[in-house]
Amino acid sequence: MTGPRPTAQVLVVGAGPAGSTAAYHLARQGIEVALLEKSGFPREKVCGDGLTPRAVRHLVRMGVDTSAPGWSRNRGLRFVSRGVTLEVDWPEGHSFPGYGLTRTRHDFDQLLAERAAAAGAVLHTGTKVTAPLRDAAGRITGVSAACGPDGAARDFSAPVVIAADGVASRLGLAMGVTRLGKRPVGTAVRRYYRSPAKHQDPYLESWLDLRRADGQILPGYSWIFPLGDGRVNVGLGVLNDSRTGTTDVRAMLAPWLERTPGEWGLHGEEQADGPLRGAALPMGFNRLPHYHQGLLLIGDAGGMVNPCNGEGIAYAMEAGELVADLVPQALSRPAGPSRERVLERYPREIATRLGRYYRFGRVFSSLMARPLFTSLVTRNAVRSPVVMGAMVRLLSNLSDRPGADAVDHLVNTLVRVFPRDKELTGRPS
Ligand SMILES: Cc1cc2nc3c(=O)[nH]c(=O)nc-3n(C[C@H](O)[C@H](O)[C@H](O)COP(=O)(O)OP(=O)(O)OC[C@H]3O[C@@H](n4cnc5c(N)ncnc54)[C@H](O)[C@@H]3O)c2cc1C
Repeated sequence: MTGPRPTAQVLVVGAGPAGSTAAYHLARQGIEVALLEKSGFPREKVCGDGLTPRAVRHLVRMGVDTSAPGWSRNRGLRFVSRGVTLEVDWPEGHSFPGYGLTRTRHDFDQLLAERAAAAGAVLHTGTKVTAPLRDAAGRITGVSAACGPDGAARDFSAPVVIAADGVASRLGLAMGVTRLGKRPVGTAVRRYYRSPAKHQDPYLESWLDLRRADGQILPGYSWIFPLGDGRVNVGLGVLNDSRTGTTDVRAMLAPWLERTPGEWGLHGEEQADGPLRGAALPMGFNRLPHYHQGLLLIGDAGGMVNPCNGEGIAYAMEAGELVADLVPQALSRPAGPSRERVLERYPREIATRLGRYYRFGRVFSSLMARPLFTSLVTRNAVRSPVVMGAMVRLLSNLSDRPGADAVDHLVNTLVRVFPRDKELTGRPS
């Protein structure tokens, strides 16, 4: 090989859940990884801080001790809708642990990044990637970055680059990977409150009947997630849909909180801890292709938030794990077509795992924008423990495959009805 020695075998851009998971699993296999993160830790990330059993499974695979201090366990979801309250425990299947967790992203992301570093990845914080480096054929060979407080320019090179740089994915954009306008996108806001009454609630609470001031029912939900440290994370997320028009999500939080009982401490400013913050939720694979010219996109960079429930962490970690399975195989082959064939398997593997489910999710999210369907869910379904138990498995993607019981079979059959997304594999749909 000519030219300077590459910085690493793999560059991972962004140390959120996607990037740190990929870096951890790669480093564990002896791959030289440089993990580039623009911020320093700890740092804020706007999130609901809620982890379903699907996300917990990935933490367990990273050797994280979820019984250690700092984690708050939950046993399921509590739905509140039009005067009805229903608690549904997480399913006790064989693929997922029977509990969820919460932890603020302030801690959570640092913990994952530290695990990646302990496994051998070299973590460069304060390193903002500014542009891809490309060869004559347009293939990515590395990145330029602005490092440290003075923004000193530095180039990093590697035969494989992973974009885990979140919803804006400037790296993906710079490589020509664009957003697909027709895919669902949500907008969500959250705020922390001190709430002695709710901070140790054993359930994640979700209010389903979201209405705008003009009475319009909205596709989405609001939440109160207990953090176990005296605080709760409250927020709401809405799917952007042309049928419901523009919604000022930030303006909706305070009126909704006024509906909660006064003793929960969620009215007004007094108990608030920090400002209201919001961000977009890129759903249903809204940025494609997931592999392009040497660049693999994972997590929010690839639009991987579940369109059914707005959960993104589990899928970011899942994609991180998947690339860490494939990349060592690719690197074991000589640069050129044979390595390329392995890397090109990534979009196909993602399509196999999630293509049908996200296709279903896109249909579901579009139905949720129809008042009749929303009304059916928020008025009728929420009264039935059996229906809501099945909904939790379906919308949180928690059924065992192959199915362990009749509900799993039902959920899996429903998802199988939806054809796999051909766009995911790079072929026209
Ligand atoms: C209000 C709200 C509530 C949510 N609630 C939940 C929830 O309760 N549960 C859940 O599972 N999901 C939730 N999500 C979604 C979840 O936050 C994301 O899906 C998840 O963070 C995606 O992880 P990621 O690693 O792909 O991206 P990110 O977490 O965004 O991480 C990207 C990283 O890349 C870094 N970066 C960006 N650009 C550069 C650059 N140029 N150079 C170097 N580094 C860079 C960033 O600093 C960041 O550390 C919520 C989202 C919002 C907006």
